[in-house]
Amino acid sequence: MSDNKKMGKVMMFTEVNEPMEEWEFPLPDELEPGAVLVKTSMATVCGSDYHSWRGRRPFPTPSVLGHEGVGTIVKKSPEVKRDTAGKDLSVGDRITWTIMANCGNCYFCRIKDLPQKCLNLFKYGHDKSDVFPYFNGTFGEYVYLRPGTGLYKLPEDLADEEASPLMCAASTVTAGLDKVGVEVGDKVVIQGAGMLGLYASVVAKEKGAKQVIMLDKLDDRLEMAKEFGTDIGLNVDNFSEEDLIKKVKDLTGGFGPDIAVEVTGFAEVIPQGIKMLRIGGRYLIQSSVYPNDTFEVASYDILIKSLTIAGLHNYDSKYLGQAIDIVHKNRDRYPFKKLAGPKFPMTADGVTNAMLSLEKKESVRPIIVPESELE
Ligand SMILES: [Zn+2]
Ligand SMILES: [Zn+2]
Repeated sequence: MSDNKKMGKVMMFTEVNEPMEEWEFPLPDELEPGAVLVKTSMATVCGSDYHSWRGRRPFPTPSVLGHEGVGTIVKKSPEVKRDTAGKDLSVGDRITWTIMANCGNCYFCRIKDLPQKCLNLFKYGHDKSDVFPYFNGTFGEYVYLRPGTGLYKLPEDLADEEASPLMCAASTVTAGLDKVGVEVGDKVVIQGAGMLGLYASVVAKEKGAKQVIMLDKLDDRLEMAKEFGTDIGLNVDNFSEEDLIKKVKDLTGGFGPDIAVEVTGFAEVIPQGIKMLRIGGRYLIQSSVYPNDTFEVASYDILIKSLTIAGLHNYDSKYLGQAIDIVHKNRDRYPFKKLAGPKFPMTADGVTNAMLSLEKKESVRPIIVPESELE
């Protein structure tokens, strides 16, 4: 290229199950009003990146995956003066941002308080990336933050690995638990001790839950959950469904939990959770987002117990701010750093290998960092 344009690399997802490819695009000369360009200092791999790569849901390609990350501002349009929480923003600041950019002006943004369902929604790590502005996901050296993105300057003493997963997992459960309304003294059952489940455990406790019971198939995850606010971990493989429901009811004073949360990514666990709930309980569906994933529940079971069944997909910007606050405030009480890792380089192979490590359940949140950060 004769014009000496500065280029940036992205790790492109081109086809289901195929390794990532390294592509290069020119960095933008000028930013549209409200936009920010960040250099990625860390990205973390979410289960849904992995499921997209494995073809569990329709996905546009080629695309740059990755919707969790931390970056340093390298360029910003003059209109961007403050972050979403009102703090001054400058080039060089370390920030994280919302999973989406929304227009702020449509029916869902303005009237229905569901900005994550904006009619002009853009989601990081979910869009075709061979067209401008290319840098659409965190699996790349740079990310182009579009106008309408919630931006949060990070506290200096919050490490990248504590901050990166907040953009998806932690914000989503913070929003979800707000929707079903955790009350002081509530008993909460969480189905799935993955990243969402571990954050849900912390957030439920910090919102005043008295008891958190975690259900999973992996004993080491259940042990880990105890470091994140969980009181009791139950391995579902050790029980018949009937016994599990009875056990949970016994543990929650005979009535059943006030709240049950699905964070396994599989709809098949939902009926079990619904059956556990106390009369008047609330059920939250958070992660079985894959089309054709269905469950069967007798309407009788919902009606007779007067249950509330809620779903929440993504989140309003304010919940990223809340998630940052909860984690920052409690970073000495819960070992958040333990959730992320090991580290992989920001290369095509690095991202592919990070996905594979998630598949093998070797880690909850593989980390991707610039190659220079790894010797
Ligand atoms: Zn995610
Ligand atoms: Zn909108």
